[in-house]
Amino acid sequence: MNAAVEKVLRPLWQPVAARAARAYIAGPELSDGVRVCRELWQRGLASTLGFWDGAGESPRQVIDVYLASLAAMASLDVAADQSFDCYRSVKPDAFGFDAALLGEVVLRAHATGRRVHFDSLGPEGVERTFALIAGAAARHDDFGCTLPGGWRRSVADADRAVEMGLSVRVVKGQWPDLEGPPIDPRAGFLGVVDRLAGRARHVGVATHDLELGREALRRLRERGTPCSHELLTGLPSRQALAEARTLGTPVRFYVAYGNAWLPYALSQAAHKPRILWWIVRDTLLRK
Ligand SMILES: Cc1cc2nc3c(=O)[nH]c(=O)nc-3n(C[C@H](O)[C@H](O)[C@H](O)COP(=O)(O)OP(=O)(O)OC[C@H]3O[C@@H](n4cnc5c(N)ncnc54)[C@H](O)[C@@H]3O)c2cc1C
Repeated sequence: MNAAVEKVLRPLWQPVAARAARAYIAGPELSDGVRVCRELWQRGLASTLGFWDGAGESPRQVIDVYLASLAAMASLDVAADQSFDCYRSVKPDAFGFDAALLGEVVLRAHATGRRVHFDSLGPEGVERTFALIAGAAARHDDFGCTLPGGWRRSVADADRAVEMGLSVRVVKGQWPDLEGPPIDPRAGFLGVVDRLAGRARHVGVATHDLELGREALRRLRERGTPCSHELLTGLPSRQALAEARTLGTPVRFYVAYGNAWLPYALSQAAHKPRILWWIVRDTLLRK
């Protein structure tokens, strides 16, 4: 979309986007996220809980939210009398890449046996994210990172993740590669998967692109790699679930709570017109 047109439309678009985005989060509170994770668990589905911060929270507040969620997961373990399969997803920019603050979360995660998984941000955050994980590795042995297929560097980062013993979530990626002309995110996705196959501790294939997910899972299984299909609540999942049942693939849902963000951009509507339909549906048709 032309930048001038986008500038004019932005004030009109923001309230629409805020309403539509509610379709993708469990609700504003931790209790909303925990409720959805519990419902999924009752259906035999694992989850990861992600807090989507707004602009206003301080790093301390974000860490307190993470700590509260780990406490809530632990109480669900006790209530269910078994380990409730849910890991904590964190966004390191939301707590300012602060190693001391992360340390509090790592201690709690270690005590309660939970993975701490780093969502991916822009490429400029990658080195700092690996440094944070390396710095915390003496205190916990279950970390995960996210590698976007759309970035050139992700194949080399896959080697690093393997060496560090990390679980990896592979995504197409929401942020562009800054190191050169765009690469095809599907081809990049499979390139990262190939690099991880047979070597990684665990790979989460995080995509709603069914054909891509199918192929990635096939390659991982062929090399005996522990893997699962990761899906975002709010996006279509019926067919992926049916396939997973047939193939016996474990499925995990990313359950977001907090501030609602759309998982698509209006600026892409010119070359992806179905986004216009998603906006109408998310704004008007979904609760
Ligand atoms: C579990 C999970 C975790 C993620 N974590 C991160 C992360 O840490 N960092 C990051 O940068 N990105 C993350 N992402 C987002 C990811 O990078 C992609 O932007 C997003 O998944 C869309 O790409 P896709 O592979 O699903 O393919 P797409 O081509 O975007 O979608 C595939 C198909 O899904 C359907 N679909 C997709 N969106 C909609 C919609 N809104 N409404 C209706 N149908 C739709 C359509 O049929 C579409 O053809 C995550 C995604 C998932 C599923």
